[in-house]
Amino acid sequence: MSQFDLVVIGGGPGGYEAAIRAAQLGFKVACIEKRVHKGKPSLGGTCLNVGCIPSKALLDSSHHYEDTLHGLDVHGISVENVQLDLAKLLARKDKVVDNLTGGVAQLLKGNGIEWLQGTGKLLAGKKVEFTPLDGSEAQVLEPKYVILATGSVPVNIPVAKVDEDLIVDSTGALEFQEVPKRLGVIGAGVIGLELGSVWRRLGAEVVVFEALDSFLPMADKALSKEYQKILTKQGLDIRIGAKVSGTEINNGQVTVQYNQAGEDKTEAFDKLIVCVGRKAYAEGLLAEDSGIKLTERGLVEVNDQCLTSVEGVYAIGDLVRGPMLAHKAMEEGVMAVERIHGHAAQVNYDTIISVIYTHPEAAWVGLTEEQAKEKGHEVKTGQFPFAVNGRALAANESQGFVKFVADAKTDRLLGMHVIGPGASDIVHQGMIALEFVSSVEDLQLMTFAHPTYSEVVHEAALAVDGRAIHAIQRKRK
Ligand code: FAD
Ligand code: AMP
Repeated sequence: MSQFDLVVIGGGPGGYEAAIRAAQLGFKVACIEKRVHKGKPSLGGTCLNVGCIPSKALLDSSHHYEDTLHGLDVHGISVENVQLDLAKLLARKDKVVDNLTGGVAQLLKGNGIEWLQGTGKLLAGKKVEFTPLDGSEAQVLEPKYVILATGSVPVNIPVAKVDEDLIVDSTGALEFQEVPKRLGVIGAGVIGLELGSVWRRLGAEVVVFEALDSFLPMADKALSKEYQKILTKQGLDIRIGAKVSGTEINNGQVTVQYNQAGEDKTEAFDKLIVCVGRKAYAEGLLAEDSGIKLTERGLVEVNDQCLTSVEGVYAIGDLVRGPMLAHKAMEEGVMAVERIHGHAAQVNYDTIISVIYTHPEAAWVGLTEEQAKEKGHEVKTGQFPFAVNGRALAANESQGFVKFVADAKTDRLLGMHVIGPGASDIVHQGMIALEFVSSVEDLQLMTFAHPTYSEVVHEAALAVDGRAIHAIQRKRK
């Protein structure tokens, strides 16, 4: 086998983007990926095969279904005899996945990157053992650099053991062959809310159990409060402070035992999705004498530049600290390669965007009002609703708001929080503003096209100083 400058272990978004950037910079690169998806070796990791992409395909299809059933009447359009072809809906999702994973294979090939189909293991002295999927003999590679990008897997809890039939994790929840009549979801995190929404839209009665006493505690309080209201109105039964303590299978149903407000309760479901978080995946990745240090939580220990405890070995994405998000993994992969090449690249962890792709979407970047106060900022905020935005009303998409958090003394923008139409795209305006260290005034002085959803961004920036035009502002400046 030819000699490689760089071996990337893991072909998810972190790994494959690192491999491509390295090839662009002239490195000879191999990417080891062991995943077999629906019988075929597959690149793209969790994200493309069983994560971001298939979940978004289902979210979009299920939104079309729900909108056709309930959202068209207001436009004066009536549709009769609406039918759901779930097999076709799932097949479309699979096609989208195939298209993208195949695309990554083409990209690697086109960039001259060797995809080694099989398992990688880091040995002492930065060597890599590659065990091919086809059962042929393992080989030892001696690259100059290694990037570990083996991602994460769902957390299992003993009180709800996944049986791939009645109790599934997020992967199983992408494959229900029938819409469950009653569906339980453990965990009101991003994945639980998205998957719960998919099956609710398709007709399931959905109950979401959340052990914590608050809903989405990592989000801005104004956002989480409004968001919980909207999702509840849509019919998601979100039980806060409800800790699942056991499950039992009876007559083809799963009975969930849980405790809420000190009371033990039970409830029966046709299916149960366990969405209680993800954990770094390093099984079989590291020889005992590889020299790589792990944290207590099993993450690979890295510095700000993703360098591990072994010179020349980097680790990125879900395998290391920070939010488990595809875009964070991608940027870390590119940064690691740029560092190897001698560039002073850096990921700005303060501007990593969070999105929940429900309808409406929720998205935020930077500090929440509560975090800004904790950090000692004197805080000012501005919030503006989509309810009075011309474009939102025209589209009948008028739920939610944009909120800015800023420093009252310096006028510096600290955070942006959005619920509403296209929030996942709108929030990028806040990300760019934060990257450029904008003041609120910078945004106030810009001209936003009319009529657009983005005008709410402008109005929210104006509202920080009591200057929003389409609202009666009591505190003006
Ligand atoms: P992964 O994508 O997990 O890729 C790692 C790859 O390494 C895997 O394919 C694995 O097979 C391979 N591997 C592991 N060990 C070895 C080995 N020893 N040898 C060879 N190969 C190995 N994130 C977002 O940003 N937006 C979203 O909308 C979003 N939605 C999600 C929805 C769901 C249902 C789930 C489950 C996740 C979602 N995520 C989302 C999270 C996102 O998928 C991950 O953050 C992202 O995939 C992490 O990328 P990664 O490259 O670190 O790892
Ligand atoms: P996330 O880590 O964002 O995907 O969210 C997972 C959620 O699952 C967290 O908010 C946890 O509090 C919640 N959770 C974990 N275990 C349980 C349990 N036994 N019952 C109910 N909720 C749980």
